[in-house]
Amino acid sequence: MAEPGKEEEEARPSAAAAAEQEARATKYVLITGGVVSGLGKGVTASSVGVVLKACGLRVTCIKIDPYLNTDAGTMSPFEHGEVFVLDDGGEVDLDLGNYERFLDVTLTRDNNITTGKIYQSVIEKERKGDYLGKTVQVVPHVTDEIKHWIQSVSSVPVDGQTRPADVCVIELGGTVGDIESMPFIEALRQLSFSLGKDNFCLIHVSLVPVLGVVGEQKTKPTQHSVRELRALGLTPDLLACRSAQPLIGSVKEKLSQFCHVPVENILNIHDVPNLWHVPLILRNQKVHEAIIKQLNLARSAGPPDLRDWTQMAESYDDLKKSVKIALVGKYTNLTDSYLSVVKALLHACVACSLKPSIQWIAASDLEDATATSAPDAHAKAWETLKGSSCILIPGGFGDRGISGMILAAKYARENKVPYLGICLGMQISVIEMSRNVLGIKDADSEEFNSDTPARVVMYMPEVSKTHMGNTMRLGCRRTFFRRTDCLTSKLYGSPSHVDERHRHRYEVNPAFVAMLEKAGLHFVGCDESGKRMEVVELQDHPFYIGVQFHPEFKSRPRRPSPPFTGLILAAAEHMGKPANNSNGHVGTSE
Ligand code: GLN
Repeated sequence: MAEPGKEEEEARPSAAAAAEQEARATKYVLITGGVVSGLGKGVTASSVGVVLKACGLRVTCIKIDPYLNTDAGTMSPFEHGEVFVLDDGGEVDLDLGNYERFLDVTLTRDNNITTGKIYQSVIEKERKGDYLGKTVQVVPHVTDEIKHWIQSVSSVPVDGQTRPADVCVIELGGTVGDIESMPFIEALRQLSFSLGKDNFCLIHVSLVPVLGVVGEQKTKPTQHSVRELRALGLTPDLLACRSAQPLIGSVKEKLSQFCHVPVENILNIHDVPNLWHVPLILRNQKVHEAIIKQLNLARSAGPPDLRDWTQMAESYDDLKKSVKIALVGKYTNLTDSYLSVVKALLHACVACSLKPSIQWIAASDLEDATATSAPDAHAKAWETLKGSSCILIPGGFGDRGISGMILAAKYARENKVPYLGICLGMQISVIEMSRNVLGIKDADSEEFNSDTPARVVMYMPEVSKTHMGNTMRLGCRRTFFRRTDCLTSKLYGSPSHVDERHRHRYEVNPAFVAMLEKAGLHFVGCDESGKRMEVVELQDHPFYIGVQFHPEFKSRPRRPSPPFTGLILAAAEHMGKPANNSNGHVGTSE
């Protein structure tokens, strides 16, 4: 028998160890969606993460995309929204961009799970003989792979610290009941069962539509989607109901009764003036209290401190003065296709106390009126370009609209309109200068014209060390400034180098650099070899910068990307200056 007092003393370290153990195990918050797609599960999931992080918890996240593509790299931005690029070169769903921006974390390609990745891994194991002659099946082999993937990725810290996060928010893409998400639902059901209620919490996002002249809020679609989820073995702990107007009390009670969710766990995400309000309305409805209680996290969490976040959301609503930004791209009016660029502009504008007014211009509409099928669209496009305070040409692939982009870059150069060219946009400025200033008429990029002798932009692949056959220069690479007193370096705070994300195959041809420099286009940043040109600046122009990297991917609310801030500051200076009436090029009907 232990001496009196000794037993207690011995028990103490083990209780502490248990608490430590509990604090260390990552707990899960799963977000599913029902009724319709496009409900904003990604924003809901990242907003829940923001509130939990504001309580002092460390948060990581996983996005599950049940499609068969292994990653988003080959998916059309027109159909699927932009391809978001991570530091490690992962080409992932745009929702991961939302997570990085909202949670201020750096994710890895493994934080985006797809059916393609899971099957690829299972099939590779099968080929290696890892299943010991067994019949390989969806259950248990695919579901085990999913569970294993979730648990190993969630233990990787994404916030620069060493220990695993307290909470991993998992967003399951698609709508419950979709055939392709079934193996994931089953794996998550098994995971929730093995981890138990105090380690796994499920939030189901659904829609409460309004019908009829009286505007009755309808609960039936939510009831049905919860029933569907329950039939698959998962029961929601919280409901997040999307609606146009706040839900009325009796609707919450009805939902509670029919969906088997306590009324205080029924959250309402009604329409808000801007997305930064979503974490605030969730905090007001005490989402953190419900989650912290269920996951037994009270020891590690405090009340949420969202003062900065509130200030940011509210200051955006108060912005009066707007700045017109011409976004000249292949796709127009498709915010999702250029989502990170739009967000980076928003961050920079808010920092400059301006409201962004994005003027979408289809590059092809700027092309010669005689060649355009719609002369009205042509006139309108030029009018819009000239009425804008700055011009941005974002990244892109393929030759559609290239001549229009060249015209826009020429207009910016000649009329001293602030210009930011990103990736393709930088290559466009090199082609434009070569053609119109150096007089090399057939100057082109090898991507659009492989036969031209004047390949001012050439194929310069970078062979992937991990992925066979990959030739794209992808992910975080270092750019060294040749001079720290150049404008771009100054915007970054005058460092000798910056690390930004890349996604391209073509680069400026080094053979033309000296000639272009003499003409006033200075190559102020390059890679460590000095062969890859990363930043151009036009001399004798208030703001004309081209970057081969994509600064938009690292822009954060309250920490805008420096090239974007520079553009908006220059646009603010340019505002009110009279536009030049000539298009600056021959051959238009204007
Ligand atoms: N298509 C160009 C290249 O591959 C530009 C790519 C981009 O803008 N992301 O180099």
